[in-house]
Amino acid sequence: MNDKISIDDLIQSVKSYNASMVSTIRKAYDMAYNLHNGQLRQSGEPYIIHPLTVAYILSEMMADADTICAALLHDTLEDTNITKEEIAENFNSNVANLVDGVTKISKLNFSSKEDQNHANTRKIITGITTDVRIILIKLADRLHNMRTLQFKTEFKQKENALETLEIFVPMAYYIGAYRIKSELEDLSLRYLKPDMYKKIEEKKLKIENESEACLKEMLRTIQSMLEDENIPNEMKVRTKNIYGIYKKLEEGGKISDIHDLLALKIMVDDVNNCYQTLRLVHSKYHPVNGKFKDFICNPKTNMYRSLHTTVFAPDDRLVQTQIRTFDMDKIASFGLSAYWDIKKGTAREVMQQSLKDKYQFFNSLVEINKVFGDNKEFVNQVKKELFANKIYVYTTKGEIIELPIGSTPIDFAYKIHTDVGNTMVAAIVNDEYVDIDKPLSNKDRVRIITDDLSFGPREDWIDKAVTTHAKRKIREFNRK
Ligand code: MN
Repeated sequence: MNDKISIDDLIQSVKSYNASMVSTIRKAYDMAYNLHNGQLRQSGEPYIIHPLTVAYILSEMMADADTICAALLHDTLEDTNITKEEIAENFNSNVANLVDGVTKISKLNFSSKEDQNHANTRKIITGITTDVRIILIKLADRLHNMRTLQFKTEFKQKENALETLEIFVPMAYYIGAYRIKSELEDLSLRYLKPDMYKKIEEKKLKIENESEACLKEMLRTIQSMLEDENIPNEMKVRTKNIYGIYKKLEEGGKISDIHDLLALKIMVDDVNNCYQTLRLVHSKYHPVNGKFKDFICNPKTNMYRSLHTTVFAPDDRLVQTQIRTFDMDKIASFGLSAYWDIKKGTAREVMQQSLKDKYQFFNSLVEINKVFGDNKEFVNQVKKELFANKIYVYTTKGEIIELPIGSTPIDFAYKIHTDVGNTMVAAIVNDEYVDIDKPLSNKDRVRIITDDLSFGPREDWIDKAVTTHAKRKIREFNRK
């Protein structure tokens, strides 16, 4: 995919959503071209093909001019003689800061390769706290590197694939960039378990072929029902990615049991029509009980919104239908970066603000960054607290709270508010009193009982909490 992107391809892509950017982009390209002139990639191609493709991937997400320029220049600070100041003079300080944020800090001195890796990883992860566009450029950069991994040694391939699964896939998930996430996952699996990858790929292809006629019939049927009701719509077929299937099989399931292996995406104009469409789908195809999910009223913590319902298809297969508005679909594909399209000029501010307000991982990340000075400890804590499996529990109002596995009511209380944690005297989980250090499970309903006259958190709560935030707050209280 995206093989041999040329500057004309990039210009074409940018023109399609913002023609006024073209001259600046051309200037950044010329600069990058001259700076990298003579350098080659391991594939033997001129180096410029790499930044050009990274910029192109971002243009598919309708990135703003600063981001595309920074993408074109993203390797110049590290690999050429230009300075940050010169980039700022030629473009602006935003572009310079983005390039600087993306640049590895390999020129600094570290006592070991491991130290340097941790420092790099930290820079990548925390880039998002200053400007989310840094992680978006980094994701596009990693995507192109993963697409061209065949030119590396087998050791490097596996090392990169593992790092991609450990660091970049969770970051893509957190900001809801599913399209990048699933391609990164599949590319990683292809290099980590090539035989398994091939086996699943063949099975998937076979099922896609066998089900094609049936899915087409469903598309036609649903489309005509929607047209009868004058609901503007667009529909697509999608199959679960290979890594997603692999994960299900690893859990012990059979491929025929995967209820969302085949899916129909139905996009309509507004929320009311989402529910109207759901009614129409259910009136025609029997839903599987327990497989309906309303992510419109209960969005995922990465802001994914959609209705999911698995139905019995005419050929007896299970087919999931995903019903959402056109804007929700943009967010489902591109996550936070969909705002480039939805909000146009003010996207940058909207992205950074909504990260703070709506994405639960963000404040935890800021906190971990503040508390852990050592790069290795920082990376380990992020992996443990944010990137490992999480649980989702409910407040009594039905809000969904995301916590690391092993979290206790203490963590929950501090996640709600410091005062709630500091005045907690008891916890009720699913209508029963529990010890405040009992690990919570998925879908638990948690109520914290507080008392203003409580003695406050005891010091031994520190060990009973899992999250950096709760531990810090308990420590702070006890210092006073
Ligand atoms: Mn690069």
